[in-house]
Amino acid sequence: MKSEKVKLDLEELRTGGIIKQKQKDYFILRTRIPGGYLKVDILKKYSVIAKKYGREYVHISTRQGIEIPWIHINNIPKLLNDLKKFGILRGACGPRSRNLIACPGASVCRFGLVNTEELARKLDQVAFGKEVPKKFKVAISGCLNSCSKPQENDLGFLAQGEPEVDLSKCIGCTLCAMVCEKVCGRGKREPAIIMDENKRPVYREENCFFEGDCVRVCPVNAWKVKKTGFAVYIGGRVGRFPKFGIKIADFVDEKQIPRIIKNAISCYNRIAQTGERFGEALEKQDIETIKKEIL
Ligand code: SF4
Ligand code: SF4
Ligand code: SF4
Repeated sequence: MKSEKVKLDLEELRTGGIIKQKQKDYFILRTRIPGGYLKVDILKKYSVIAKKYGREYVHISTRQGIEIPWIHINNIPKLLNDLKKFGILRGACGPRSRNLIACPGASVCRFGLVNTEELARKLDQVAFGKEVPKKFKVAISGCLNSCSKPQENDLGFLAQGEPEVDLSKCIGCTLCAMVCEKVCGRGKREPAIIMDENKRPVYREENCFFEGDCVRVCPVNAWKVKKTGFAVYIGGRVGRFPKFGIKIADFVDEKQIPRIIKNAISCYNRIAQTGERFGEALEKQDIETIKKEIL
């Protein structure tokens, strides 16, 4: 297929997730799926696109997007029309924020403390496609298991649940204390629950992981999650200089998340030079001042 007739703005295409492939005149279409939730009707459209413009396969990216390689440059204008028609969301490349990722969360996962699915959909507009010095990634996890790796993203939200016990229901089985010590703390940390001399659990908040294992194991529902919120991590990354994000808050209310995302992006733009990741720029800053700016 010849390419001379089609004139396209390659930078504009890159901004919208159409990335030059290794092979001359071919491009990869990067789409985005906020939180990884995709209706099967749309999924079928991906098949149509891959058959019509690609080579009948897709690549599932680590940021919960679907990529379709082998798009010939001459086909890009028609492809863009089809994407709009089918409601397929384009991803991003270059110096801007990426698709927000999330784990399955409380809608289906038995460990989930919050509905990450719904949250990811709500946050797409605020988190995606913003201009930044290098790239900016946001991840949300529904519990401490951290399946979407919030600590490795520029901005990460990790759901937390504060447990509370109703001693009037307790039958003294000791299961909560055993799970707290052996499963939560893995024997490496003082347990948050110890049994007193009357075989009643005593809760010590300072040792708690806030993931709710005690709530799940209690046979009489004496434990419940009193409140949920999010731990907030900033500056995580992999690549050349991998580093976990710094935790700057616990139990942040879900309603505060859009504001925190906006503040973190604006802080990144203020403190970083072109080509620098948020975490690298943070290394030269006073974290207490940054906390005030973001939270
Ligand atoms: S992070 Fe927790 S809630 Fe999310 S999928 Fe993993 S185990 Fe489930
Ligand atoms: S949520 Fe806290 S108290 Fe409950 S099992 Fe985990 S560490 Fe222990
Ligand atoms: S698991 Fe429930 S019933 Fe058993 S000791 Fe703990 S609170 Fe009491």
